[in-house]
Amino acid sequence: MARDPRYDILFEPVKIGPLTARNRFYQVPHCNGMGMRHPSTLAEMRGVKAEGGWAVICTEQTEIHHTSDCSPHNEGRLWDDADIPQHARMTERVHAHGSLAGFQTTHNGLWVPNVYSREIPLAPSHRRVEGYSPVQARAMDKADIKAMRRWHVEGALRARKAGYDLIYVYAAHDLTIQMHFLSRRHNERTDEYGGSLENRVRLLREILEETKEAVGDTCAVPIRFAVDELMGSEGISCENEGRDVVEMLAELPDLWDVNISPWKNDSITSRFTGEGHQEPYISFVKKVTGKPVLGVGRYTSPDAMASLVRTGVMDMIGAARPSIADPFLPSKIEEGRIDDIRECIGCNICVAGDIESAPIRCTQNPTMGEEWRRGWHPEIIPEKKSDDSVLVVGAGPAGLECTRALGQRGYAVTLAEARTEIGGRVAEESRLPGLSEWIRVRDYRQAQIDRMTNVETYLDNRLSAEQVLEFGADHVVLATGCRWRADGIGLNNHYPVKGADKAHVLTPDDIIADAAVHGPVVVFDDDHYYMGGVIAEKLRAAGHEVILATPAADVSHWTHYTLEQGRIQSRLMEMGVEISTNRNLAAIGDGDVELACTYTGRRYSLACSTVVLVTARLPEEDLYHALSETGIASLARIGDCLAPGTIAAAVYGGHRYARELDQPAPEGVPFRRELPRLAGE
Ligand code: ADP
Ligand code: SF4
Repeated sequence: MARDPRYDILFEPVKIGPLTARNRFYQVPHCNGMGMRHPSTLAEMRGVKAEGGWAVICTEQTEIHHTSDCSPHNEGRLWDDADIPQHARMTERVHAHGSLAGFQTTHNGLWVPNVYSREIPLAPSHRRVEGYSPVQARAMDKADIKAMRRWHVEGALRARKAGYDLIYVYAAHDLTIQMHFLSRRHNERTDEYGGSLENRVRLLREILEETKEAVGDTCAVPIRFAVDELMGSEGISCENEGRDVVEMLAELPDLWDVNISPWKNDSITSRFTGEGHQEPYISFVKKVTGKPVLGVGRYTSPDAMASLVRTGVMDMIGAARPSIADPFLPSKIEEGRIDDIRECIGCNICVAGDIESAPIRCTQNPTMGEEWRRGWHPEIIPEKKSDDSVLVVGAGPAGLECTRALGQRGYAVTLAEARTEIGGRVAEESRLPGLSEWIRVRDYRQAQIDRMTNVETYLDNRLSAEQVLEFGADHVVLATGCRWRADGIGLNNHYPVKGADKAHVLTPDDIIADAAVHGPVVVFDDDHYYMGGVIAEKLRAAGHEVILATPAADVSHWTHYTLEQGRIQSRLMEMGVEISTNRNLAAIGDGDVELACTYTGRRYSLACSTVVLVTARLPEEDLYHALSETGIASLARIGDCLAPGTIAAAVYGGHRYARELDQPAPEGVPFRRELPRLAGE
């Protein structure tokens, strides 16, 4: 297909300092949980994105000195020349596809406790390090500042040696020493590096100038700068110093990569905002500088991207999550394949991987993180090895991805779904408050499947074991999903909760099905991801008095990993949901519940007319048990009907089945690992 001429503008080359980017697609620095511990995994992941058409591919934050040690997180590391070869692996993979490689030079200052290096953290003034570690950073003296400047120059030279083309100066996310000097709340110095903005910006300016002097003849030197921290007068904001800094340094860097900080504001989820949310903050920058400008905003629409360039908001389209969900997004626009774009749903499962120090995974892109260790490519999948037929039962995320990938391989697939619409849990959950973008999990797969002549879909077909056998497919895959438990068993209750069988006790499935609710309602959340908070929000919005009780210390605890916890809790509080933390559910009465303090066991009685149990789920496995007793030749379960989990896990399970259908069962660990290979080299 030919490219739509409206998007030609996105494929114009852009000059960045001494370099030229081949188009306007720019993968901004993003963390990935691979970093220094999984260099081959990382190199292949970045290389695949270059192959997919991103003109610039950047690293994640990369420490340039042992006084900046992000352990236990897997971030980038370039402390000395010994680290160069692993970086060269990435730059080679990026260059192989004609893209430029960018290095995000990072000294984390007071953000890291340096648990591995055991060096004392450095800061403009004596400060606690971020988080709850009992560690303080010490105030830097003049010799420290001089050394800090030298480390940045050495880091830049080393990065160039590793093959990087763009060498960043990084002052965003409240993560780096330049930002710490810049921020009044971190910097109480009285010398020429503290006080006035001109003084606080001095270190940033010096590092910019010295980096340019060191590598500016051959490398471009972008700045990543947070124009707003959404903290009002406490921090930097567009009105308060953000704009001033851009004006002061306007023509110094080769490119302005601008955003809002900290990370939870930069990578906000779709539950709280949509595409382009940063535009109001960053749109002034192009009016202040003649250098190329880019920003992010989870852009997946080529119309929005082209309009940003045309209206003079950005010269390049920055992306982290859209490039994770679809590494081939630029190529697809270039080839006129807009319907093939796998749009990010804004769930931040990718972020959770990084924070958990594990290679990132993605809800939409099951190959993310598997490029090297399993050899999975996001667009290419081996052709089928036989003419076998496959019956997939259930069209939720697992069944849909399995069908799509098997169809892409060329298999004859029949997809049977009990309901009158496809999508399973995403069709239902995307109707809950804030989750509408999740429907993209279905939409992408539906669009792909609809075009496949080798796939047939049957709706309104709840299959029994007899019908499955009668159908006579060579392989049967069950993707029948799960249901919420109604007995209260969850993380903290290992036995059914007394009274859970009463008529006024409901589950999220009942709320989704619009069961009658009478207030006051107690939502008991022992699941700790999004569902408890979402149900409370829905019921409160419907006008009920709602109390959210949880054994955790805060609401939707696991959403700390998706950077949403603060927003979820404050939204519920602002809506008037009463929050009761550190409370387990002990018993359910006819007009009340008994909650127990998780520390003392002390009991509290709470009047209520409805109880919603959000605790755990049970697989829909009746069909599996009925079929497995028949001696059927090839039967498998995938997704939530194997073990309830995230949507990302269901998509991954479906994809994996499709990849492995005709492969011999692996002996031992089914993927490559980096350290044992290195040790054996
Ligand atoms: P997953 O997340 O694992 O994909 P979902 O719960 O989202 O699971 O989807 C499971 C789908 O399977 C639902 O749409 C459900 O209607 C369907 N389903 C369950 N049992 C049957 C069956 N016996 N025949 C056909 N479809 C079924
Ligand atoms: Fe987007 Fe979710 Fe994938 Fe992250 S995990 S890239 S937020 S779809």
